[in-house]
Amino acid sequence: MNVLIVYAHPEPRSLNGALKDFAVQRLQQAGHAVQVSDLYAMNWKAALDAEDDTGHQPGAHFNPSLASKHAFENGTQRADIAYEQEKLRWADALILQFPLWWFSMPAILKGWVERVYAYGFAYGVGEHSDTHWGDRYGEGTFSGKRAMLVVTTGGWEPHYSARGINGPIDDLLFPINHGILYYPGFDVLPPFAVYRTGRIDEATFPDVREAFGRRLDDLWTTAPIAYRPQNAGAYDIPACTLRADVAPEKTGFAAHIE
Ligand code: FAD
Repeated sequence: MNVLIVYAHPEPRSLNGALKDFAVQRLQQAGHAVQVSDLYAMNWKAALDAEDDTGHQPGAHFNPSLASKHAFENGTQRADIAYEQEKLRWADALILQFPLWWFSMPAILKGWVERVYAYGFAYGVGEHSDTHWGDRYGEGTFSGKRAMLVVTTGGWEPHYSARGINGPIDDLLFPINHGILYYPGFDVLPPFAVYRTGRIDEATFPDVREAFGRRLDDLWTTAPIAYRPQNAGAYDIPACTLRADVAPEKTGFAAHIE
């Protein structure tokens, strides 16, 4: 299988750097092909702007969505964007690896998503009508591929528990797991999270590494999070709200998991 790791940490000798190196080795030893997009090492341009469409005329009004659609359809995307899209087409599984910064991904990784996820590639795919609101949430360009987040946090595990002060980790990661990964069609695996990183040292690191290794070994067999597909009957279209008789007692993020 082909695995793409999109990795965002500025220091190769960090915990994240060590986990990324370990993942590459473990996956390759298991016979998988691995590519790494090391965003800091690539000096990845994070800001989406008019320069992303090489066909953009200086001074012309820049509409980010329409420019993305135009550039994707006409082959005028910047080369760095097209290259990352090729890696995504190649991959059977995508791993996004990052330290939790301000309850989300580092800006450089958000910028990778914003720029690489072009209109017509990751969104705006499929028929949009009153009966079918696009191929998304369970369908789309990445359908049949798997994805997993690898996240490290300074906060302790109980801080991210169901009643923890930071909010449950699954809620914090919902916009990434459901909005960025499930939306364009990935089957999304439960995240691998490393908490309380300040306490990790030579003595505890081997346990973290082994737990991570097991998740990598199970990349093809772990059951994905059971998000509800948009176009399989659970939602009223085009409002895209859950049908009144589907989990009527649930609201918020949890309602979208079977
Ligand atoms: P490092 O600092 O590199 O390492 C962590 C520990 O692991 C160190 O003790 C180090 O010695 C040890 N270690 C590293 N490599 C090895 C190795 N190979 N073998 C053995 N030990 C090793 N945290 C939150 O919980 N929520 C937030 O919202 C949040 N926001 C943040 C925002 C910013 C801007 C920043 C800078 C930090 C934030 N943090 C937050 C903390 C952040 O999530 C952690 O600092 C980060 O996850 C740690 O990962 P690292 O790779 O940088 O670890």
